[in-house]
Amino acid sequence: MENAHKKKEIAEKKGQTEKVHKEEKKEVKLDLKGCGDRKCPYHGNVSVRGNVFRVTVISAKVPKNAIVTRSLAKYVKKFERYKKMRSRLNVHNPLCINAKVGDIVEIGETRKLSKTKNFVITKIVGREK
Ligand SMILES: [Zn+2]
Repeated sequence: MENAHKKKEIAEKKGQTEKVHKEEKKEVKLDLKGCGDRKCPYHGNVSVRGNVFRVTVISAKVPKNAIVTRSLAKYVKKFERYKKMRSRLNVHNPLCINAKVGDIVEIGETRKLSKTKNFVITKIVGREK
């Protein structure tokens, strides 16, 4: 009987500790300002420096992620003409901006945010027609 009682007590204690843990987590979430995204240029700890481009969003399926495209004109010496080129970039899409497909956005260079991302969307400029 004593053993069973002890087990019950332990179970109750475990339950209590879990609850406390959850409450702590909630408090931490409330403490974060703005959108709570650490990689946000306004509310996180990411500084924008270096290149700034104006690009078009072509995919925004993954949360906090966007694929953008940038058109370039590269000079070809042999033909004395410009060649149209495109570059695709994987950029960070902060929660408070949340750009969608077709948006024209401004992106800024940051530190490496993940394996493939080192740019972040800083603002939405307009929409592609
Ligand atoms: Zn934000």
